[in-house]
Amino acid sequence: MVYQLLIERTYKEKEQMKEFDVVVIGGGPAGYVAAIRAGQLGLKTALVDEYIGKSGKPSLGGTCLNAGCIPSKALLDSSEHYDRVKHKYAAHGIKAEGVDLDVGQMIARKDKIVTTLTQGVAGLLKKNKVKWLQGHGRLELGMHVTVQPNGDDAAAEKVKAKHIIVATGSVPRELSNVTIDHQRIVDSTDALNFDEVPKRLGVIGAGVIGLELGSVWSRLGAEVVVLEAMDDFLTMTDPEIAKAALKEFKRQGLDIRMGAMVKSVEEGSDGLTVNYADNDGTHAVEVDKLIVAVGRKPHTDQLNADEVALLIDESGYIHVDQYCRTNIPDIYAIGDVVRGPMLAHKGSEEGVMVAERIAGQVREVNHDTIPWVIYTWPEIAWVGKTENGCRQAGRKVKSGSFPLRASGRAVAMDETVGLVKVIADADSDEILGVHIFGAAASEMIAEAVVAMEYRASAEDLASIVHAHPTVSEAVHEAALDVHGQAIHI
Ligand code: FAD
Ligand code: NAD
Repeated sequence: MVYQLLIERTYKEKEQMKEFDVVVIGGGPAGYVAAIRAGQLGLKTALVDEYIGKSGKPSLGGTCLNAGCIPSKALLDSSEHYDRVKHKYAAHGIKAEGVDLDVGQMIARKDKIVTTLTQGVAGLLKKNKVKWLQGHGRLELGMHVTVQPNGDDAAAEKVKAKHIIVATGSVPRELSNVTIDHQRIVDSTDALNFDEVPKRLGVIGAGVIGLELGSVWSRLGAEVVVLEAMDDFLTMTDPEIAKAALKEFKRQGLDIRMGAMVKSVEEGSDGLTVNYADNDGTHAVEVDKLIVAVGRKPHTDQLNADEVALLIDESGYIHVDQYCRTNIPDIYAIGDVVRGPMLAHKGSEEGVMVAERIAGQVREVNHDTIPWVIYTWPEIAWVGKTENGCRQAGRKVKSGSFPLRASGRAVAMDETVGLVKVIADADSDEILGVHIFGAAASEMIAEAVVAMEYRASAEDLASIVHAHPTVSEAVHEAALDVHGQAIHI
């Protein structure tokens, strides 16, 4: 009798258990794009995501849409408007008196943008027949995923998948000697939600987040001090670009201190004392808020990876090959949880590749042509290698550059800070890297990506007609300069 009941229950469970061609765990730009593409390809797809947005409700789009790319760019834009009206419009003959700041409105605008876009993702899933399973996804043996919906009472659901794509993203890295309290000592998510401009703001880490969010609050009036452990600034960029950027950010008022190792933070009634050491000894700096922005780490600790024997390295990254295949057949991993830059577009492209490969198509991602952008003003953007990187890879190189002060459009815009640099192979002339510091760098870099994807030479780029007057003419001139043929300098 008991046996009979058990058989019936198992049969019932089996009948109830949903089966999918593809189950994606993680609804950020890697996971939701993979799910949409799988849906477009006619695969029966589910997306498991647990993110709870600022409003306390489930919200798709992961870090990028909820607490990363989009909200930070919304605030960067708002703060740029404020900075222009305060400091730049007068030169254009535009007088703006009594300019005031409404931080609440600025944050509300940012939140509205996030809501619009995250709801947009939900709409896209629906349109492509992707089932959103809200909750925490856990890998189980036998290609199963258990989904535990958020909320105490909700029952877990077990689904079966022919293919699983893990896209669980990343979380901020913490420092052992600085405890984030989310009030005065904060992470990047908190720093997108200050309700007033801190008078004195400290930032640990002069990386991408430190520079972007430091710029936001500095433009809005905070005195910003950035403490960076490394002696060299932005080591992943071209040194000429990094040098020009450091000089400009310091001119803008960011007090960037290099070689500064934070030792401790003392909490006082009217502020925080950050103690740090550099080559000259020990120092203390007083701040009201402190942003910790020392990198991010893959979010893989709650996946049940050990039980299913999913290979994860000592830093927490899921081990994958060039096609994002893990050590377990039919389980893939994409985005911030795997090697390569932690960038939204990199994860999305991996998502498309995996979905298409599951559907039997041929698809690759060229990791050598993934562009980077740092959305300071001016912006920093690059693709490919630096000169040093090329030399380390055994390539002989030549380079050309063009300063924006010689660009007619940049002069007309009063945006003359920065330069474009093109690096090419000394023998074949193939473009190996393009580095830009300047207004609109985020848009200009796309041309360099296309050129490199098609393995263009510097001469090819130099032969392409660029509209006049545009800042992108600087890319043209830098390519001409590789052969000593720049016209306007
Ligand atoms: P994520 O976006 O982190 O998404 C992972 C999702 O999976 C989350 O929703 C998470 O809740 C969910 N999840 C995790 N574990 C589970 C589980 N077990 N079950 C269910 N759900 C789970 N990149 C850019 O390219 N451009 C930028 O301008 C940019 N700006 C940024 C600004 C800031 C302040 C930050 C913090 C990051 C920024 N990034 C930017 C980086 C970018 O946000 C990430 O590279 C990108 O979000 C990674 O996408 P992902 O899909 O791999 O992971
Ligand atoms: P990051 O790696 O860019 O910078 C972290 C910085 O902190 C480094 O310069 C590092 O040397 C420094 N650091 C580390 N430990 C330190 C310590 N103890 N004291 C002082 N400095 C210390 O990391 P991030 O700025 O936190 O951003 C994380 C990632 O998110 C980025 O690498 C990027 O992949 C992504 N992101 C991208 C964008 C974009 O594309 N525009 C924007 C924001 C974030």
